[in-house]
Amino acid sequence: MLKKMYASLGISAQVLDFAGEIEKHLEERFAAIDRTAEYNQLKVVRAMQENRVSDIHFAATTGYGYNDLGRETLEKVYADAFGCESALVRPQIICGTHALHIALSGNLRPGDELLSPVGKPYDTLEEVIGIRDSVGSLKEYGVSYRQVDLRPDGSFDYAGISAALNERTRLVTIQRSKGYATRPTLSVERIGELISFIKSIRPDVICMVDNCYGEFTETREPSQVGADMIVGSLIKNPGGGLAATGGYIAGREDCIERAACRLTAPGLGRELGATLGITQSMFQGFFLAPVVTAGALKGAIYAANIYERLGFPVFPAGDTPRHDIIQAITFGTPQGVISFCKGIQAAAPVDSFVTPEPWDMPGYDSQVIMAAGAFVQGSSIELSADGPIKPPYAVYFQGGLTWYHAKLGILQSLQQLADDGVVKL
Ligand SMILES: *Cc1c(COP(=O)(O)O)cnc(C)c1O
Repeated sequence: MLKKMYASLGISAQVLDFAGEIEKHLEERFAAIDRTAEYNQLKVVRAMQENRVSDIHFAATTGYGYNDLGRETLEKVYADAFGCESALVRPQIICGTHALHIALSGNLRPGDELLSPVGKPYDTLEEVIGIRDSVGSLKEYGVSYRQVDLRPDGSFDYAGISAALNERTRLVTIQRSKGYATRPTLSVERIGELISFIKSIRPDVICMVDNCYGEFTETREPSQVGADMIVGSLIKNPGGGLAATGGYIAGREDCIERAACRLTAPGLGRELGATLGITQSMFQGFFLAPVVTAGALKGAIYAANIYERLGFPVFPAGDTPRHDIIQAITFGTPQGVISFCKGIQAAAPVDSFVTPEPWDMPGYDSQVIMAAGAFVQGSSIELSADGPIKPPYAVYFQGGLTWYHAKLGILQSLQQLADDGVVKL
């Protein structure tokens, strides 16, 4: 019956048999992911119970949004679940880049230096920082930037980091996920080691972690190993697919207050910001996020194992532990990237009938192709894939609100690659 259903969606018996063979060997890993999800589910429920979440918190506020109980409680829930003093969780934070910009610009002052000890940050941050010249960058405000790359084997260049830290270094930004780079994603444990090292030299420096795509992939967050701020987007993991917009910054009270004064205005800080009736979806999304993230993780591992078996370089490798939900697959040709994205699009519940094409996306320095048939526009906790059309022609795959949907997407991608003659099964 299941085979017939897949056939009705265009998946051939050949593709199904090939993938079925691989899925058989993933049982143990999937069980481990379920255990992490179970722990994180309890953690979130406990934070909601301890903060006495009630339906009064789902009420809408308008205008200035003073005394928005729902907003304040949601921020306490985030802070508690992530082991932080404080959090800013707002629909007015429009995306991850915006959240990172607020955290950085709120906590840096003219003359300060920003250090990335883990190599080049995510593409859109290049303009925030001023690595690529941009109107309003930190560079324009007199904040300088220094970078220490990871060593070729992916380890930290401790000597280089030590040399780069100076009296002007005010903030260190650590990106957990690999983003569009082919370097290892950092585990929470490794982030903790790096922060300990930095604080042993400069205890007063602020350590911020770009936590995008990492939330709930482990039982701890970087805030529990010394990060002063963790930052992310609600249309990725912590929104659980239900938050329609938003971002968060969680961490030390003084850092969050400075970020809030940048988000709103000096003197206003956290006290304002109407939520217009969307806090319910933000609570509920956070409640579902551990399980949604688990489904996305399974999809990433499944994809890695399938494409590895077909001989494509995959990153992370099929058998490595996961610290984010992104899977990179290097096809080596534009056609491979395009076929893969077409397959993902064809599996979507929304817009399955459209054909994705490469385009000049703002914030990126090459054409990018994106496949997304999402309930929330641009949501990448929903099944989605994107790839810059430049060597090595790698595609980045992520999301899936349920494991079964992630699985369908990967089967469709394989079918499309087979149909287009990129792979032979
Ligand atoms: C997605 C992402 C961002 C930026 O988030 P947007 O919501 O796309 O602005 C920053 N850093 C990393 C690692 C990301 O994955």
